[in-house]
Amino acid sequence: MRKISIIGGGQAGLLLGFSLLDKGCSVSLYTDRSAEQVLNSRIPSTAFMFDSSLAVERELGLNFWEDLVPFGEGMHVDFRGPDGSIGLTVQGRLGNLQGQALDQRTKFARWLQEFPLRGGKLIIHAVSVADLEKIAAESDLTMVAAGKGQINAFFARDDERSIHTVPPRRLAAMLLTGPGLLGDRPWKRVPFRPLRFNFIAGAGEYFTLPFYTHTRGECRSVLFEAIPDGPMDRFQDARDGHEMLDIARQVVAELAPDDLHHFDDATLTDDDAWLKGSFVPTVRKPVGRLPSGACVMAIGDTAVLNDPIAGQGSNNAARMVRHLADSIVARGNAPFDAAWMHDTFERFWNDSAQYTTAFTNALLNPPGEPVMTVLGAASQHPPVGDAFMRCFDNPRNYWPWIADLDEARRFVAERTEERCAA
Ligand SMILES: Cc1cc2nc3c(=O)[nH]c(=O)nc-3n(C[C@H](O)[C@H](O)[C@H](O)COP(=O)(O)OP(=O)(O)OC[C@H]3O[C@@H](n4cnc5c(N)ncnc54)[C@H](O)[C@@H]3O)c2cc1C
Repeated sequence: MRKISIIGGGQAGLLLGFSLLDKGCSVSLYTDRSAEQVLNSRIPSTAFMFDSSLAVERELGLNFWEDLVPFGEGMHVDFRGPDGSIGLTVQGRLGNLQGQALDQRTKFARWLQEFPLRGGKLIIHAVSVADLEKIAAESDLTMVAAGKGQINAFFARDDERSIHTVPPRRLAAMLLTGPGLLGDRPWKRVPFRPLRFNFIAGAGEYFTLPFYTHTRGECRSVLFEAIPDGPMDRFQDARDGHEMLDIARQVVAELAPDDLHHFDDATLTDDDAWLKGSFVPTVRKPVGRLPSGACVMAIGDTAVLNDPIAGQGSNNAARMVRHLADSIVARGNAPFDAAWMHDTFERFWNDSAQYTTAFTNALLNPPGEPVMTVLGAASQHPPVGDAFMRCFDNPRNYWPWIADLDEARRFVAERTEERCAA
């Protein structure tokens, strides 16, 4: 039986751990906080996962909240000028690719309890680079899924694949409950339960998603992605979530005024339902060599860390877990050496992560002509809007047209012709 050690009890580490237990491996998972500590901490993220990522969790019987979490049925996007006026609106339904957003505190705490029940060995310990040496010596394969944890610095930055040297956005997120935020049709002009996106020229983006947390049940996440030093960038001095909510009302009043009434009587779901900060999106070399010569592999955000603007980090982790679990099984009894780690990551990068990263980075900049062509058509023709939004499930599907005007025109023509023919 292959002996696998995983560092980090988050989306990538836990999901891979369960997947490998399911495939008959012996799995030890080291993480720095107990289930109880995770449950009683601040929110780490506001992650929405699309259907094909949720499928990985469903297949492993980890979808304990499937019937509780409201589905995000589609997206409603307003592109606004600096004064908040709407220049372009695009709507699209996700159809069978709809997804869900669940509080990671709720999810990871429950999964940490489940892990030993399925035969995994759970060790609550903040792993250092020195600890990695001992863990790697006792394991056939050691993988680091420590997210943005400091230990990720052990893996060298890949300068060719990392385009950022400073944080592109300053983030502020909250979980809110309130009469204008919940239910099937919270936005009157949207005929489904939307992921609500606002792109505001010169200021940044403001998103709200249908959400679920153990502290209050159904709620909504609100995420501000502020361009540093721009007019939205006002959250970083806030001392708690209540101050952040006050600032949020001011920002929405100025930059998306027609949304302000949704905040009437809104409150935080709990005192820990907020986060703020910034980070440099970074792609790392997947193989780290320890002083002894043993190698360990980076996965999840430790390997590919993107800005949350495209909502892809947890989705990328789920896609990577599927790829890794298959690759580990296919290896049979051969050693998990540096060449295997490198090749395994390269295949994933080439097939998937490069598209996720490029799509995310594209959203951080004003759209180019191909995207504007598709968005313009999407604002008029619902099938184009639906097709655009459905690509979020797997950003690879944005290619080739996202970078090629002729392909973009063809993408539009095919969808509008389909409609005429129907
Ligand atoms: C505001 C925000 C919004 C987001 N929205 C979305 C979204 O809509 N959709 C989406 O797909 N993604 C989203 N993401 C990204 C997503 O949350 C992450 O990409 C995902 O959680 C990464 O999984 P991971 O396992 O790599 O890291 P994490 O989930 O961060 O898990 C890492 C774990 O390792 C532990 N750890 C760290 N250091 C050590 C150590 N030394 N020893 C032991 N344990 C350690 C941590 O405590 C943590 O439990 C968002 C992120 C943010 C910040």
